[in-house]
Amino acid sequence: MSLYGAIEAGGTKFICAVGDSPSDLRAHARFPTTTPAETLGKCIDFFKAQPRIEALGVGCFGPLELRRGALRYGHVTTTPKPGWSNADVVGPLKRALKVPIGFDTDVNGAVLGEARWGAAQGLDTAVYVTIGTGIGGGALIDGELVHGLVHPEMGHLLLPREPDDASFAGACPFHGARCWEGLASGPALERRWGARAETLPPEHPAWDLQARYIASALTTLVLVLSPQRLILGGGVMQAAQLFPLARGHLRRSLNGYVQAEALAAGIDSYLVPPGLGQHAGIAGAFALAERAAQAPQTAAPDAR
Ligand code: ADP
Ligand code: ZN
Repeated sequence: MSLYGAIEAGGTKFICAVGDSPSDLRAHARFPTTTPAETLGKCIDFFKAQPRIEALGVGCFGPLELRRGALRYGHVTTTPKPGWSNADVVGPLKRALKVPIGFDTDVNGAVLGEARWGAAQGLDTAVYVTIGTGIGGGALIDGELVHGLVHPEMGHLLLPREPDDASFAGACPFHGARCWEGLASGPALERRWGARAETLPPEHPAWDLQARYIASALTTLVLVLSPQRLILGGGVMQAAQLFPLARGHLRRSLNGYVQAEALAAGIDSYLVPPGLGQHAGIAGAFALAERAAQAPQTAAPDAR
């Protein structure tokens, strides 16, 4: 059995773990996200106190530089989080631990982890979206995580405004009320309704509106990527009534055009919560570590 290291690097906390797999942890720890030097230093100390790992996986809040060979490969780029703009994440870990490092967005990690151990097992094309403080999505297509110019930023898909929501100013600093995150993140719900999402009762009109925005964005994802499953996680999706509402609106929105059993009678097992529950993030980091251990480490920088 190989021992892997995993870091779920979030804007409020970093979770570190060592084990053979996410279901067989030898050790784990959590550190508040302070400065990059302090936070990464605590992670390094944690791993140095453990038996040697074969590879490390890091699922990180973004945006990130993921182009191999880019000057700032492995950095967080333009985050508004104080101290983290242009912070090097992979460099200090690599210099201290000297192991292969799989580095990707938290949501790309999560979709890989769900495909390995969770709700997308046996599938090679799936999407994972988190709806929490922000909205972000990761995509596995034909077994590969999607990168490119940068990486997908599904949370900022522009959405048509629902007619009964005409006056809301929105919550996205870049797109106001024009994008998914601006209309339907946790802070957007709080701003629209004047109360935190978890305090709104299940029968509150907030939830049907929320489900329409979710279905609107998912319609685009179904049409563009043709995922075999859609996995929705994050704090806001803890509101369990959202799943049946969003499934209904997604079916109505597609209106029978895409012919697939999964979008009709099979919708309950198509649009689902993470099979790994709250552990999707750390499991994703393990999956990234596994991939890093298998990948050739001397690959030439690509020319993009
Ligand atoms: P983050 O995105 O920062 O990692 P979370 O995924 O936990 O954090 O999302 C936090 C958001 O989820 C907050 O806006 C909060 O109001 C909302 N939230 C947390 N729990 C619930 C719940 N049970 N129902 C609806 N919304 C919730
Ligand atoms: Zn936006």
